[in-house]
Amino acid sequence: MRAADQTPLPGTFPAAALRAARGHCPRCGEARLFRKWLKPCDSCSACQIDWTPQRADDFPAYIAIIVTGHLLAPLIILLSKDFELEPLAIFALVVPLALAMMLGLLQPAKGAVIAAQWWFGLNGFRKERPILEGDSA
Ligand SMILES: [Zn+2]
Repeated sequence: MRAADQTPLPGTFPAAALRAARGHCPRCGEARLFRKWLKPCDSCSACQIDWTPQRADDFPAYIAIIVTGHLLAPLIILLSKDFELEPLAIFALVVPLALAMMLGLLQPAKGAVIAAQWWFGLNGFRKERPILEGDSA
């Protein structure tokens, strides 16, 4: 176990969000963030940060809906205009694809939301930033 003050923090929010979207702790990047599919661990087994203050609520689902909709809308237009498929055929293609995308995006979106709450110090998280060379107190 590494001491909390020696944990290499991510340099930017996108780096933290990427760690969390991959299912790793956004703070240290080492341990798993989720113990079940959408259930985060209570604390990080590597850096010991307490994840119980996170409140992602429905926001990951909204992110998954928005991303899926924006990616599938051009496909639906393409299938109906260029390939002139019947609505039932489009439905048969798009609905399973949309379900797969939604289910696939939920955990990364939830990880990124948790990372955002930690990075910006929301919901009781302490705002932490890496100490960079040249920083003055
Ligand atoms: Zn950690």
